[in-house]
Amino acid sequence: MTTHRVGARPPRGSATHPEQTTDAARLAAHLEDAAHVRGGHADALALPRSEHEVALCLSTATRVLAIGAQSSLTGGATPRGGLLLSTAGLRRLEAASGGGLRVGAGVTIAEVDAWALERGALYPPGPTWHGATIGGTIATNAAGAATFKYGSTRAWVDALTVVLATGDVLDLQRGQVTAHADGYVEIARAHDVVRVPLPRYGMPGVPKLSAGYFAAPGMDLLDLFIGSEGTLGIVTEATLRLEPVRPAACLVFATFCQRASALRFVDCVRREAVATWRRGDHAGLDVSAIEHMDARSLALLCEDGADRRCGVSIPADAEVGLLVTLDLPHETTSAQVYEALGGGNGTAGALPRFVQLLSAFGAADTAIVAAPGDVAAAARLLALREAVPLAVNQRVGAAARDVDARIEKTAADVIVPCERFEELLDLVDEEFRQRGLDGAVWGHISDGNIHPNVIPRSFADVEAGREAMLAIGRAAVALGGAPLAEHGVGRSAIKQQLLLDLYGREGIAQMRAVKQALDPHGVLAPGVIFAETHST
Ligand SMILES: Cc1cc2nc3c(=O)[nH]c(=O)nc-3n(C[C@H](O)[C@H](O)[C@H](O)COP(=O)(O)OP(=O)(O)OC[C@H]3O[C@@H](n4cnc5c(N)ncnc54)[C@H](O)[C@@H]3O)c2cc1C
Repeated sequence: MTTHRVGARPPRGSATHPEQTTDAARLAAHLEDAAHVRGGHADALALPRSEHEVALCLSTATRVLAIGAQSSLTGGATPRGGLLLSTAGLRRLEAASGGGLRVGAGVTIAEVDAWALERGALYPPGPTWHGATIGGTIATNAAGAATFKYGSTRAWVDALTVVLATGDVLDLQRGQVTAHADGYVEIARAHDVVRVPLPRYGMPGVPKLSAGYFAAPGMDLLDLFIGSEGTLGIVTEATLRLEPVRPAACLVFATFCQRASALRFVDCVRREAVATWRRGDHAGLDVSAIEHMDARSLALLCEDGADRRCGVSIPADAEVGLLVTLDLPHETTSAQVYEALGGGNGTAGALPRFVQLLSAFGAADTAIVAAPGDVAAAARLLALREAVPLAVNQRVGAAARDVDARIEKTAADVIVPCERFEELLDLVDEEFRQRGLDGAVWGHISDGNIHPNVIPRSFADVEAGREAMLAIGRAAVALGGAPLAEHGVGRSAIKQQLLLDLYGREGIAQMRAVKQALDPHGVLAPGVIFAETHST
């Protein structure tokens, strides 16, 4: 039975004070996240091992920032004073009823994936960085390469345990607490009832969105915490759903010498995959992810020798590289795949159809395949994909060191409906060209989600890049998409501006009202999602 009121309970577990340190060397390891925003500082680092210890941290500090793996690309996991609360000690990992698993916030995606793999199952929504934690991925509603088939983190969370800023604990089961028809939920505490007014704005209808608080008529309270970036409560545990049968994943990397052919190929593969799911056809073409690298990204791989290290040859005239995850029937072996590729009679699901499509679009000759179970070959292709952001980050780091210390990563995370994707790419090219910027573009093309990145040669490039990122984010909205797809808002001034553009002042005021009700003293993640000067 659903209700709009949930009872809070006191925290459980040992009531001892958590391990806490002010040791400068230990703090120094946590003053920056993957956005590499400078100036991080914290008074202390706490390592709670139970929800009670989390609650004790909240009762003694006036500013608390929860951190998982600090792989945030928004500065959201960079501390600005106060207590840093690491979830690394929240380590539960066990089967839950109904085939899912109950997992502590500090467990990583890699650990969950290994657990699922042993059982032939899959936890599909994780980001491409598998060191990210369950708490961090829930807090950012992370999505990844496979969102096209499986959706974002939100779709895989069945239950959450959250410690509120007051130290009260909520156990939320999906479907049990939903918005009242008048747009609020209530939290019954020991001595009072808190009414939380829920946001009323409409969210863009895109497959991945990490843009402030979730809003929908009749929404589930659980969904308010997913994607709230640690500003409304600290997730200590979650119950996750698993895909019970893990497909045999076959990776294929191919290059295209014309961007238009690559885009038509993607369109064709996406359509066939969707038709396969609709038919429930186990032998049909099934794809869970298509990753995209533009010509500049491919050039970076060659400049850095990543192509040779990963056993890939990239033609000099290649305009696009695609890394496709082809989902073959669970029982498919690597021998069957390599036999089918060699023209033999091996049955390898829809692989022959996929190869036919590659040929039709002129990309079969460059294709490199990692068959299911060929762990080394798959690792090489995944490393190739990861070498693109690494190449950009190295260049940003070198320019900050050698040219101007103010140089920093300047990137966007935009999504548009797939039929508008080519327009988005043209627009990004134009925004870069107009400003004389060097930039690389890569991302999750199966969702219409890309990450344009500036390769700065000067601080002026960073400033021009910021303007370009605002323009690109606004254009994504005009194309029916969103400027904040999967990384969240964090402390980035540009992302906070894009959030304001997306929902307007009234939308931001509605988010602040939620924050005010749940965290009236602004203890949790100050400065994340909303600039601190306007904090509640
Ligand atoms: C190489 C690389 C690739 C990436 N690829 C992707 C991708 O494909 N898709 C994607 O979505 N992201 C991607 N990211 C970004 C990042 O991995 C995700 O945002 C991830 O969800 C962050 O998890 P984390 O454990 O590192 O959290 P952190 O970075 O530590 O924290 C992120 C935010 O969540 C909050 N938080 C952390 N734990 C909790 C908790 N238990 N309760 C409440 N709030 C909490 C923090 O306060 C912060 O605001 C990538 C990052 C890197 C470096």
